[in-house]
Amino acid sequence: MATTWPSWLRQSPDLIEIIMSEVPTQPQPASTPVHDVIMIGAGPASLSAAIYTTREDIETLLFERGVVGGLAAITDWVDNYPGFPKGIAGLTLADELRLQAERFGAKIELGEVLKITDEGKYKRLETTSGDMLAKAVLIGTGSDYKKVGVPGEQEYYGRGVHYCATCDGAFYRDKKLVVVGGGNSAVQEAMFLTRFASHIDLLVRGDHFRASEVLQHELENKHKDKITVHFNTTTDEIVGENNSVVKVIGTDKTTGSKVEFPTDGVFVFVGLKPNTEFLKDSPVELDEIGFVKADDKQETKIPGVFVAGDVHSGATMQIASAVGEGATAALRLREYLEDHGRKHGDPDAAIMN
Ligand SMILES: Cc1cc2nc3c(=O)[nH]c(=O)nc-3n(C[C@H](O)[C@H](O)[C@H](O)COP(=O)(O)OP(=O)(O)OC[C@H]3O[C@@H](n4cnc5c(N)ncnc54)[C@H](O)[C@@H]3O)c2cc1C
Repeated sequence: MATTWPSWLRQSPDLIEIIMSEVPTQPQPASTPVHDVIMIGAGPASLSAAIYTTREDIETLLFERGVVGGLAAITDWVDNYPGFPKGIAGLTLADELRLQAERFGAKIELGEVLKITDEGKYKRLETTSGDMLAKAVLIGTGSDYKKVGVPGEQEYYGRGVHYCATCDGAFYRDKKLVVVGGGNSAVQEAMFLTRFASHIDLLVRGDHFRASEVLQHELENKHKDKITVHFNTTTDEIVGENNSVVKVIGTDKTTGSKVEFPTDGVFVFVGLKPNTEFLKDSPVELDEIGFVKADDKQETKIPGVFVAGDVHSGATMQIASAVGEGATAALRLREYLEDHGRKHGDPDAAIMN
């Protein structure tokens, strides 16, 4: 659109030229915030790493799409984390980790990282809050619950089908439940659910538990009256009526016959899948299941991008291991920043796109 200058100004073409030279011809580019370190996920691995980086004055932002504290925060009780001889509630442990990281200056923002791109000196993160740049990155995205993938599971999700006993168990006071799975989580969470449920049918696809001996003994000795274990039993369908779950249909693999378990709700604990969808098109290498591969410094195929915790290929899926890897990653991040002369205090606080 042509500018209509007032008549008095039209008399002074020189003045118009000066004014025009000050007017930007293109829209001003927005600035992209730059951080020393961005940690993707705020579970135990990242929170532990953030305690180390922020104590060393390395500016650190954690980006969390769900619950601060990750899976630890939704675990009822943790008995095997060193330093707590009587055990500790998962939520309390998660909260203490957060407070410790925040004490040294860690910032936590809620949102999801959607993509990561290597731009050399900086790593660009596409997030639900816009783009951000980081001099170094920690991937601490952990893993999520796997689904059994049967009819009714999706339909009744949150209305009878659950994946977190701590979050949803109390809805089932004096009700019947089905728990699906045979590993540590299934056994541990089934025992936790006995606080509420009148009876639990535990459906195990295989002919034995994958859970630890300790948990199996606890189940046998303390919970036999409330939990009935059904080995060799598949879960085929979750059936509901009037918006509520009423039964689970399975197959007894030893006879091939259909079996039905009347129930008010179903809790599924059949394993975990890594949270790495956002790395699909990135150079970060994943193993065949989708966990992040890294070298012995926990550095991925993108220089300056490190990994820690459950999402790391070969992880032992324990809070103690996750915080250990978090601490190691933080020290590697510091080395990386020092080697690349980009410690906190560089003048590039924000970069024009
Ligand atoms: C039922 C259950 C019971 C358990 N009991 C125990 C126990 O007794 N003892 C023990 O040691 N361990 C236990 N564990 C395992 C323990 O919780 C994990 O090993 C630990 O939480 C791993 O920490 P992490 O930081 O690696 O990952 P997580 O705790 O999974 O945290 C990762 C975080 O990253 C976030 N995230 C993922 N993707 C993105 C993204 N794209 N953008 C932003 N944020 C993202 C997630 O929302 C999550 O909060 C249990 C786990 C379960 C499921």
